[in-house]
Amino acid sequence: MNPAAEYDYLIVGAGLYGAVFAYEATRRNKKCLVIDKRDHLGGNTYCEDVNGINVHKYGAHIFHTNDKTIWDYVNSFVPFNRYTNSPLANFEGKLYNLPFNMNTFYQLWGTKTPEEAKAVLAQQTRKYQDIQPSNLEEQALKLVGDDIYTKLIKGYTEKQWGRKTSELPAFIIKRLPLRFTYDNNYFNDAYQGIPIGGYNKLTEGLLKGIECRTNIDFFKEKEALTGLAKQIVFTGKIDEYFDYCHGKLEYRSLDFKHEVVDMQNYQGNAVVNYTESNIPYTRIIEHKHFEFGKQKTTVITKEYPLEASSEKEPYYPINDAKNTALFKAYQDMAKKETTIFGGRLAEYKYYDMHQVIGAALSETKRLFIEKS
Ligand code: FAD
Ligand code: UDP
Repeated sequence: MNPAAEYDYLIVGAGLYGAVFAYEATRRNKKCLVIDKRDHLGGNTYCEDVNGINVHKYGAHIFHTNDKTIWDYVNSFVPFNRYTNSPLANFEGKLYNLPFNMNTFYQLWGTKTPEEAKAVLAQQTRKYQDIQPSNLEEQALKLVGDDIYTKLIKGYTEKQWGRKTSELPAFIIKRLPLRFTYDNNYFNDAYQGIPIGGYNKLTEGLLKGIECRTNIDFFKEKEALTGLAKQIVFTGKIDEYFDYCHGKLEYRSLDFKHEVVDMQNYQGNAVVNYTESNIPYTRIIEHKHFEFGKQKTTVITKEYPLEASSEKEPYYPINDAKNTALFKAYQDMAKKETTIFGGRLAEYKYYDMHQVIGAALSETKRLFIEKS
């Protein structure tokens, strides 16, 4: 902290948390400098234009929220289209609709009415009803029973997380809704879509007129950078900030294999999950479908999950007991700092985009409105 410094805030990380913070601070006449170690802005929402198609470089990003204020907020920077996420699951060559709904039950069991489907589900889950789920496997079996667990959850989840479902926290699976209507919309939220022209438009809107520098790693120039600002907003890894003094927090990473395919339509859907364990990737994304693209060629991405390392990007925090305890130790250290810690990496939290925007808006409200 340098009270005489040129900038009010040095914002480390140009993802959504950093960009929203920078926008909110700037409009209150605070001077911000945003840095990112990558060669672009936007964090994990960054898209690359390939043959006119916005390729989600760090995995498919679908915006969804129930909060009208956040929906209006993002739409004030760029209008969103009406894309609805309806992924398919491929298990041993057969396709199933997601999330688990009447279409899925029909494909699995031939049931046509909610009563018929509920009867099969009741029979499949009966033996698990007395369990108090302490892990993902127990939670899934209690919720959906053997067939759905075996065909659509176990293989995908163990590939994604590199751990047995019995070693994973139950909350991960609560994200999957169960529905007794013929409705393939993956999300229950009232608002959903993709920015027209891609996510970079959202980043550009938020960071317009704000000084941003890419290819700058905070830790390589920490002293000089810290001297530039009165306060730091840090959205990188919290364990790295404290030099891993308690040990390293674990993350899952992904390898993205992007391919240009010389055909107009490869799989007819933006997202197809591969839920069996012997296929090494978890899903194939066909990016043009997010924006109803009509280009002559198409771009697909296969996602291969793996453990994060110094060369592999940290994407998914592993919120198991061991890592939660470790994070708590870092969080206690963070409380004694003047630096503001925010976002997926600094809060070690499985945040969606609307949640990270909400968190940055709450923090700036606390700083600029409640304190003034
Ligand atoms: P990030 O976007 O990770 O930004 C942090 C930035 O900090 C990065 O650009 C990084 O380079 C930079 N940084 C880190 N350390 C340093 C350093 N030392 N010096 C300088 N810069 C540094 N959310 C949804 O709502 N819908 C989805 O469909 C969805 N899909 C996802 C799919 C995948 C594969 C992943 C990984 C996430 C997905 N998310 C989705 C979540 C979404 O990406 C996050 O909520 C959001 O990007 C978090 O923003 P952030 O600013 O916290 O982090
Ligand atoms: N999941 C699953 N089968 C699927 C899709 C998801 O078992 O076909 C599980 C898996 O454990 C995953 C979790 O549901 O980690 C959340 O999935 P979601 O697609 O919501 O998460 P994302 O990876 O997009 O953050």
